[in-house]
Amino acid sequence: MSQRAPRARILVVEDEARLRGLLRLYLERAGYEVAEAADGRAALEAVDETPPDLLVVDLMLPGLQGEALIRAIRETSDVPILIASAKRSDVERIAGLRLGADDYLPKPYNVHELVERVHAILRRSGRARVELPAEPLSFAGGRLVIDPLTRAYRCTDPAGDRVGDLGGDAGGSRHGAPDRPREGRLTPAEMRLLVALVGASGVPLDREALLRAAGGAHAETARTVDVHVGNLRRKLGDNAVHPWAIETIPEAGYRWIAQADDSAAGIGGPAGASGPAGASG
Ligand code: CA
Repeated sequence: MSQRAPRARILVVEDEARLRGLLRLYLERAGYEVAEAADGRAALEAVDETPPDLLVVDLMLPGLQGEALIRAIRETSDVPILIASAKRSDVERIAGLRLGADDYLPKPYNVHELVERVHAILRRSGRARVELPAEPLSFAGGRLVIDPLTRAYRCTDPAGDRVGDLGGDAGGSRHGAPDRPREGRLTPAEMRLLVALVGASGVPLDREALLRAAGGAHAETARTVDVHVGNLRRKLGDNAVHPWAIETIPEAGYRWIAQADDSAAGIGGPAGASGPAGASG
């Protein structure tokens, strides 16, 4: 079909020299330019020096661990990250995606599969999956406000209607606890998911559609959508049983149900292939 992106630059962060060399070999054969880093600090320096188009990151590294590396990169950059790690339990995978990684490949892996995933992630990141609006979004009368550019959000739980961490807990309000708004930053994938959901104007989106929106790389990782949605809910103080923002539609997917205030009302559906290629800070 179409040709792959020309000479995209991949930074391989891996402390096992043999594996690192193998990855370089296969990625170069696939047409990529490859840079290597044997630990997290070297990786950070490499990212500063010449920003790559994608990182392959091992988590268990000497010195600065992969998790800390990803966190540091995500402070400033939306660059696609593929975790390739021997940490393979569900909990560890979820934790990795929570950091803002785009995909997760457990070790031991087939190098061909890693290369395929790199292709897929780059193909998707080259297209504008969703058009991020420039102005802050506001929902439910200001209950939730998000700046799409910085991905910073601020979410206020209405008094007497505490949701979120308490989940299905019978109680509700915590006496004496001040209603502090929760603030933080969405990961790039969470931001794109949210915009895709909002843009669907109340129509449920299935996991495939959301996976494309989030930049997932592989049908097998459709479950990562559930992880991203779970993370979003946690951040927004939403919950699956009594949702105010994201409703689960059995057999169909997820649906955005929070009323958009003026600023968020104009978000269109998923954008076409109009975006710039491979842009990342
Ligand atoms: Ca390692």
